Amino acid sequence: VVEVAASLGVTKVRITGGEPLVRPGIVDFVRKLSRVPGITDLALSTNGTLLAGRAEELRAAGLIRVNVSLDSLRPHVFRAVSGRDDLPRVLAGIEAARRAGLRPIKLNIVVLRGINDDELCEIVRYAAGNGLTPRLIEYMPLGWGRRWDTSFVPAAEILERIRPLLADGAPRRNPGDTAVYYALRAGGEVGVISPVSCRFCDLCNRLRFTADGRLRPCLTGEGEVDLRGALLPRIRPDKIAQCLRAATAGRPAVGSNSKPLGTRPMAAIGG
Ligand code: SF4
Repeated sequence: VVEVAASLGVTKVRITGGEPLVRPGIVDFVRKLSRVPGITDLALSTNGTLLAGRAEELRAAGLIRVNVSLDSLRPHVFRAVSGRDDLPRVLAGIEAARRAGLRPIKLNIVVLRGINDDELCEIVRYAAGNGLTPRLIEYMPLGWGRRWDTSFVPAAEILERIRPLLADGAPRRNPGDTAVYYALRAGGEVGVISPVSCRFCDLCNRLRFTADGRLRPCLTGEGEVDLRGALLPRIRPDKIAQCLRAATAGRPAVGSNSKPLGTRPMAAIGG
Protein backbone atom coordinates (compact mmCIF):
# COMPACT_ATOMS: atom_id res chain seq x y z
CA VAL A 1 0.00 0.00 0.00
CA VAL A 2 2.81 2.38 0.86
CA GLU A 3 4.58 1.60 -2.43
CA VAL A 4 1.46 2.55 -4.37
CA ALA A 5 0.88 5.61 -2.20
CA ALA A 6 4.49 6.71 -2.82
CA SER A 7 4.01 6.27 -6.57
CA LEU A 8 1.07 8.69 -6.29
CA GLY A 9 3.16 11.30 -4.48
CA VAL A 10 2.97 10.42 -0.77
CA THR A 11 6.34 11.11 0.86
CA LYS A 12 5.61 10.77 4.56
CA VAL A 13 4.48 7.77 6.61
CA ARG A 14 3.73 7.73 10.31
CA ILE A 15 3.27 4.48 12.21
CA THR A 16 0.77 4.87 15.03
CA GLY A 17 -1.46 2.63 17.11
CA GLY A 18 -2.64 1.74 19.74
CA GLU A 19 0.98 1.32 20.60
CA PRO A 20 3.12 0.38 17.59
CA LEU A 21 6.10 -0.87 19.60
CA VAL A 22 4.13 -3.88 20.89
CA ARG A 23 3.84 -5.16 17.32
CA PRO A 24 6.00 -8.25 16.78
CA GLY A 25 8.55 -7.50 14.07
CA ILE A 26 8.18 -3.72 14.30
CA VAL A 27 11.86 -3.14 13.47
CA ASP A 28 11.67 -5.19 10.26
CA PHE A 29 8.43 -3.42 9.40
CA VAL A 30 10.16 -0.04 9.77
CA ARG A 31 13.07 -1.28 7.66
CA LYS A 32 10.71 -2.33 4.85
CA LEU A 33 8.89 0.99 4.87
CA SER A 34 12.13 2.96 4.93
CA ARG A 35 13.21 1.23 1.71
CA VAL A 36 10.12 2.21 -0.27
CA PRO A 37 11.30 4.60 -3.01
CA GLY A 38 9.86 8.07 -2.51
CA ILE A 39 9.26 7.83 1.24
CA THR A 40 11.52 10.50 2.66
CA ASP A 41 9.98 10.95 6.10
CA LEU A 42 9.28 7.97 8.34
CA ALA A 43 7.89 8.72 11.79
CA LEU A 44 6.39 6.80 14.68
CA SER A 45 4.01 7.86 17.47
CA THR A 46 4.47 5.98 20.72
CA ASN A 47 3.62 6.08 24.41
CA GLY A 48 7.38 5.67 24.95
CA THR A 49 7.27 2.77 27.39
CA LEU A 50 9.15 0.36 25.09
CA LEU A 51 11.30 2.95 23.36
CA ALA A 52 14.42 2.59 25.54
CA GLY A 53 15.04 -0.95 24.32
CA ARG A 54 14.21 -0.20 20.70
CA ALA A 55 15.42 3.29 19.77
CA GLU A 56 18.84 2.24 18.41
CA GLU A 57 17.45 -0.59 16.26
CA LEU A 58 14.63 1.59 14.97
CA ARG A 59 17.04 4.33 13.96
CA ALA A 60 19.32 1.80 12.28
CA ALA A 61 16.27 0.39 10.45
CA GLY A 62 15.53 3.81 8.95
CA LEU A 63 13.14 5.49 11.36
CA ILE A 64 13.71 9.23 11.26
CA ARG A 65 11.70 10.65 14.13
CA VAL A 66 9.28 9.93 16.97
CA ASN A 67 6.39 11.60 18.75
CA VAL A 68 6.05 10.57 22.38
CA SER A 69 3.01 11.13 24.60
CA LEU A 70 4.04 12.83 27.82
CA ASP A 71 1.04 14.36 29.56
CA SER A 72 2.86 15.07 32.82
CA LEU A 73 6.26 15.07 34.50
CA ARG A 74 4.62 14.32 37.86
CA PRO A 75 4.41 10.59 38.53
CA HIS A 76 0.98 10.69 40.20
CA VAL A 77 -0.53 12.84 37.42
CA PHE A 78 1.09 10.67 34.74
CA ARG A 79 -0.43 7.62 36.42
CA ALA A 80 -3.86 9.25 36.70
CA VAL A 81 -3.92 10.24 33.02
CA SER A 82 -2.34 7.16 31.42
CA GLY A 83 -3.42 4.52 33.91
CA ARG A 84 0.20 3.34 34.12
CA ASP A 85 3.08 3.92 36.49
CA ASP A 86 5.50 4.30 33.61
CA LEU A 87 6.89 7.83 33.76
CA PRO A 88 10.50 6.70 34.41
CA ARG A 89 10.33 4.26 31.49
CA VAL A 90 8.96 6.95 29.19
CA LEU A 91 11.68 9.43 30.19
CA ALA A 92 14.30 6.71 29.64
CA GLY A 93 12.75 6.03 26.22
CA ILE A 94 12.98 9.70 25.27
CA GLU A 95 16.62 9.79 26.35
CA ALA A 96 17.35 6.63 24.33
CA ALA A 97 15.69 8.19 21.27
CA ARG A 98 17.87 11.27 21.70
CA ARG A 99 21.04 9.21 21.95
CA ALA A 100 20.01 7.13 18.95
CA GLY A 101 19.78 10.30 16.84
CA LEU A 102 16.04 10.27 16.15
CA ARG A 103 15.22 13.88 15.21
CA PRO A 104 13.11 15.76 15.91
CA ILE A 105 11.59 14.22 19.02
CA LYS A 106 8.19 15.76 19.62
CA LEU A 107 6.39 15.46 22.93
CA ASN A 108 2.59 15.36 22.73
CA ILE A 109 0.89 16.86 25.76
CA VAL A 110 -2.91 16.85 25.89
CA VAL A 111 -3.82 19.78 28.14
CA LEU A 112 -6.42 18.91 30.79
CA ARG A 113 -7.90 21.51 33.10
CA GLY A 114 -7.25 20.83 36.77
CA ILE A 115 -4.92 17.95 35.92
CA ASN A 116 -1.81 19.07 34.05
CA ASP A 117 -2.63 22.66 33.02
CA ASP A 118 -0.57 24.04 35.91
CA GLU A 119 2.65 22.35 34.77
CA LEU A 120 2.81 23.45 31.14
CA CYS A 121 5.76 25.78 31.73
CA GLU A 122 7.60 23.03 33.57
CA ILE A 123 7.08 20.58 30.68
CA VAL A 124 8.09 23.16 28.07
CA ARG A 125 11.27 23.99 30.04
CA TYR A 126 12.12 20.29 30.36
CA ALA A 127 11.64 19.84 26.60
CA ALA A 128 13.64 22.91 25.66
CA GLY A 129 16.47 21.91 27.99
CA ASN A 130 16.69 18.50 26.34
CA GLY A 131 16.45 19.52 22.70
CA LEU A 132 12.88 18.23 22.36
CA THR A 133 9.84 19.90 20.78
CA PRO A 134 6.79 20.02 23.06
CA ARG A 135 3.36 20.23 21.45
CA LEU A 136 0.47 21.31 23.63
CA ILE A 137 -2.78 19.87 22.34
CA GLU A 138 -6.36 20.88 22.99
CA TYR A 139 -8.38 18.06 24.46
CA MET A 140 -10.83 16.72 21.89
CA PRO A 141 -14.19 15.23 22.87
CA LEU A 142 -13.32 11.84 21.48
CA GLY A 143 -14.76 9.55 24.08
CA TRP A 144 -11.60 9.01 26.15
CA GLY A 145 -13.76 8.59 29.22
CA ARG A 146 -13.04 12.00 30.77
CA ARG A 147 -15.58 14.79 30.89
CA TRP A 148 -14.68 17.04 28.01
CA ASP A 149 -16.53 20.20 29.00
CA THR A 150 -14.81 20.50 32.37
CA SER A 151 -11.37 19.35 31.15
CA PHE A 152 -11.04 21.36 27.93
CA VAL A 153 -8.54 24.25 27.86
CA PRO A 154 -8.64 26.41 24.70
CA ALA A 155 -5.45 27.21 22.79
CA ALA A 156 -5.68 30.91 23.69
CA GLU A 157 -5.51 30.02 27.38
CA ILE A 158 -2.72 27.49 26.80
CA LEU A 159 -0.73 30.26 25.12
CA GLU A 160 -1.35 32.67 28.00
CA ARG A 161 0.00 30.10 30.45
CA ILE A 162 3.28 29.68 28.58
CA ARG A 163 3.57 33.33 27.48
CA PRO A 164 6.56 34.09 29.80
CA LEU A 165 8.60 31.45 27.94
CA LEU A 166 7.89 32.74 24.44
CA ALA A 167 10.28 34.85 22.40
CA ASP A 168 9.06 37.81 20.36
CA GLY A 169 8.13 37.20 16.76
CA ALA A 170 5.39 35.70 14.66
CA PRO A 171 4.52 32.01 15.00
CA ARG A 172 4.97 29.71 12.04
CA ARG A 173 3.04 26.82 10.55
CA ASN A 174 4.47 24.35 8.02
CA PRO A 175 2.25 23.25 5.14
CA GLY A 176 0.18 20.26 6.20
CA ASP A 177 1.29 20.59 9.83
CA THR A 178 -1.28 20.50 12.60
CA ALA A 179 0.71 22.68 15.00
CA VAL A 180 1.48 26.39 15.13
CA TYR A 181 5.04 26.84 16.39
CA TYR A 182 6.25 29.61 18.70
CA ALA A 183 9.92 30.34 19.34
CA LEU A 184 11.09 29.99 22.94
CA ARG A 185 13.35 32.46 24.74
CA ALA A 186 15.49 29.51 25.83
CA GLY A 187 15.87 28.32 22.22
CA GLY A 188 13.81 25.77 20.37
CA GLU A 189 10.08 25.91 19.80
CA VAL A 190 6.77 24.94 21.31
CA GLY A 191 3.85 23.83 19.18
CA VAL A 192 0.21 24.49 19.96
CA ILE A 193 -2.41 22.28 18.32
CA SER A 194 -5.98 23.51 18.40
CA PRO A 195 -8.27 20.95 16.76
CA VAL A 196 -11.31 22.28 18.62
CA SER A 197 -11.03 26.07 18.82
CA CYS A 198 -9.30 26.68 15.52
CA ARG A 199 -9.60 23.87 13.05
CA PHE A 200 -7.07 23.27 10.31
CA CYS A 201 -9.12 21.10 7.92
CA ASP A 202 -8.05 23.30 5.01
CA LEU A 203 -4.44 22.19 5.65
CA CYS A 204 -5.23 18.55 6.40
CA ASN A 205 -3.53 16.16 3.98
CA ARG A 206 -3.57 12.90 5.93
CA LEU A 207 -4.95 9.50 5.17
CA ARG A 208 -5.20 6.87 7.89
CA PHE A 209 -4.81 3.18 7.09
CA THR A 210 -6.39 1.16 9.89
CA ALA A 211 -5.19 -2.20 11.16
CA ASP A 212 -8.27 -3.87 9.70
CA GLY A 213 -7.59 -2.63 6.18
CA ARG A 214 -9.61 0.55 5.79
CA LEU A 215 -8.56 3.97 4.59
CA ARG A 216 -9.99 6.78 6.68
CA PRO A 217 -9.62 10.25 5.18
CA CYS A 218 -10.82 12.16 8.24
CA LEU A 219 -10.22 11.46 11.91
CA THR A 220 -13.74 12.37 12.89
CA GLY A 221 -15.74 11.38 9.80
CA GLU A 222 -17.22 7.89 9.64
CA GLY A 223 -16.49 7.58 5.91
CA GLU A 224 -13.94 4.84 5.15
CA VAL A 225 -12.75 3.10 2.00
CA ASP A 226 -12.35 -0.67 2.34
CA LEU A 227 -8.98 -1.69 0.92
CA ARG A 228 -9.23 -5.40 1.63
CA GLY A 229 -10.59 -6.28 -1.81
CA ALA A 230 -7.44 -4.73 -3.29
CA LEU A 231 -5.19 -6.85 -1.05
CA LEU A 232 -6.90 -10.25 -0.97
CA PRO A 233 -6.77 -12.83 -2.42
CA ARG A 234 -3.96 -11.06 -4.28
CA ILE A 235 -2.47 -7.59 -4.19
CA ARG A 236 -3.82 -5.34 -6.94
CA PRO A 237 -1.80 -2.12 -7.19
CA ASP A 238 -4.31 -0.60 -9.63
CA LYS A 239 -7.16 -1.15 -7.15
CA ILE A 240 -5.06 0.16 -4.27
CA ALA A 241 -4.43 3.33 -6.28
CA GLN A 242 -8.16 3.62 -6.99
CA CYS A 243 -8.97 3.30 -3.29
CA LEU A 244 -6.31 5.84 -2.31
CA ARG A 245 -7.75 8.32 -4.79
CA ALA A 246 -11.30 7.66 -3.61
CA ALA A 247 -10.31 8.16 0.03
CA THR A 248 -8.48 11.40 -0.73
CA ALA A 249 -11.46 12.69 -2.67
CA GLY A 250 -13.71 11.72 0.24
CA ARG A 251 -12.08 14.00 2.83
CA PRO A 252 -14.63 16.54 4.03
CA ALA A 253 -13.89 20.22 3.49
CA VAL A 254 -14.53 20.67 7.20
CA GLY A 255 -14.46 17.77 9.65
CA SER A 256 -16.11 17.85 13.01
CA ASN A 257 -13.49 17.76 15.73
CA SER A 258 -16.05 18.81 18.29
CA LYS A 259 -18.14 15.66 18.00
CA PRO A 260 -17.45 12.20 19.42
CA LEU A 261 -15.69 9.79 17.05
CA GLY A 262 -18.56 7.37 16.62
CA THR A 263 -17.97 3.69 16.22
CA ARG A 264 -14.16 3.62 16.34
CA PRO A 265 -12.15 4.77 19.35
CA MET A 266 -9.02 6.87 18.73
CA ALA A 267 -6.74 3.90 19.39
CA ALA A 268 -8.36 2.01 16.49
CA ILE A 269 -7.89 4.93 14.10
CA GLY A 270 -4.34 5.90 14.93
CA GLY A 271 -4.68 9.61 15.66
S1 SF4 B 1 -11.44 17.02 11.25
FE1 SF4 B 1 -10.83 15.65 9.58
S2 SF4 B 1 -10.34 16.99 7.85
FE2 SF4 B 1 -10.35 18.28 9.71
S3 SF4 B 1 -8.18 18.28 10.40
FE3 SF4 B 1 -9.23 16.61 11.52
S4 SF4 B 1 -8.84 14.81 10.23
FE4 SF4 B 1 -8.39 16.57 8.94
